[in-house]
Amino acid sequence: MAQSFDLLIQNGHVFTETGWLSPGYVVIDSGCIRQIKNGEAPQEIVSLAKRVINASGMAVIPGLTNAHTHLCQTFMRGLANGRPLLSWLKELIWPLQAAMGSSEVALAATLGLVENLHSGVTHVVNHHKITHTLEHTQVVCQAAQKIGIRCTIARAWSDRGSGAEGQRAILDELEELFSTCHNVSPLIRIANGPLTPWRATAETLQRTHALAQHYNSFTHIHVAETRDEVQMTLNETGLRPIAWLDALGVLGTDCQIVHGVWVDEQEISLLRERKSLVIHCPVSNAVLGSGIAPVVQFLQQDIQVLLGTDGSASNDTQDMFETMKMALCLGRVKALDPMVLSPQKVLEMGFAGKSIRENQPADLVLVELDSSHTVPVHDIVSALILCSRSSDVHTVIVDGKIVLENHQICALDEKALIQECNHAAKKLLERAGIS
Ligand SMILES: [Zn+2]
Repeated sequence: MAQSFDLLIQNGHVFTETGWLSPGYVVIDSGCIRQIKNGEAPQEIVSLAKRVINASGMAVIPGLTNAHTHLCQTFMRGLANGRPLLSWLKELIWPLQAAMGSSEVALAATLGLVENLHSGVTHVVNHHKITHTLEHTQVVCQAAQKIGIRCTIARAWSDRGSGAEGQRAILDELEELFSTCHNVSPLIRIANGPLTPWRATAETLQRTHALAQHYNSFTHIHVAETRDEVQMTLNETGLRPIAWLDALGVLGTDCQIVHGVWVDEQEISLLRERKSLVIHCPVSNAVLGSGIAPVVQFLQQDIQVLLGTDGSASNDTQDMFETMKMALCLGRVKALDPMVLSPQKVLEMGFAGKSIRENQPADLVLVELDSSHTVPVHDIVSALILCSRSSDVHTVIVDGKIVLENHQICALDEKALIQECNHAAKKLLERAGIS
């Protein structure tokens, strides 16, 4: 290597597909990983780096993907108070969402994205529910770009029941978002986000799914989160929800099933055959008392499973370390077997296919391993899944750029943001008549 490059990370424990390099070093330039080597970085490499990060005592891992959340709900933490899903939605979430202006959405999204970065997340899939105007969605794109985090916005919609939109309006806005925001920057993608089978008509589901396919994107939908919802789809269509999505031609590699708590054997077979992806939200499912998804069965059937926090109204944080530990714990509880779901498998679910490899985008996280709740570290993967917390995340790099450094968000004054959010959330609750 004879030319200068952007960033060198040295002296860390570097996670690679073939094991840990301890120590190892990573060379980053123009947004990509250019070199990964075992040992200490030679002086000639150090001298070519424009920036050097000393990762001594830290794990250097791929960025985590929070594969399902609702960023607007960061203003709605701690409100569920024992309510099951459907009354929680009707009494609190829907009225608050209806009252949110675009400036409040921008603040709530920014706060949620900041919290995700602190948790080592480099890619968030935001099932975006507040869609009163196009601006309500555009402000989320702007917030992600300002902070420097990857964000896929699955534009939510329903064309039945409370808050229903017309099919034409849904298709027009999706088309506008795909044509103006999708992939315009390496950080932003758009997806189709029908809320649930019981709030979508067959035709709108099919047409929006076809539109997402046209833009090489996907459909992201809550399915079978609770038993009641499965019964509602059965009553209306005569089919269980996964079977209904399959009958419509929507189930496939470009369909993401969020939750999948109450799926039967036949539905698991369908998910395997169609190679659909399942997003597991263990903390949210536990908070709302919805159930425990059969994650071990999904994995035994080679169904890809990613992890999500879900929105902060039902979690009530965006803590991916807590989510990974909960996925491991609940999976073992459901199987009554401590041998299932290894920490390695759960960590891979958190990475969502990302790895530290040459010529891959440089989305990396440095996690301190020397806290009182972590030492002694006998096995780094076990430490990361069972001991580490978001507060151990020291540095986050997205697309080769440092966006969180020494626990500080680089793009904004976090204290000022928190103050502004506290004020705005209080006003929102007052306006929505929720005490
Ligand atoms: Zn959700």
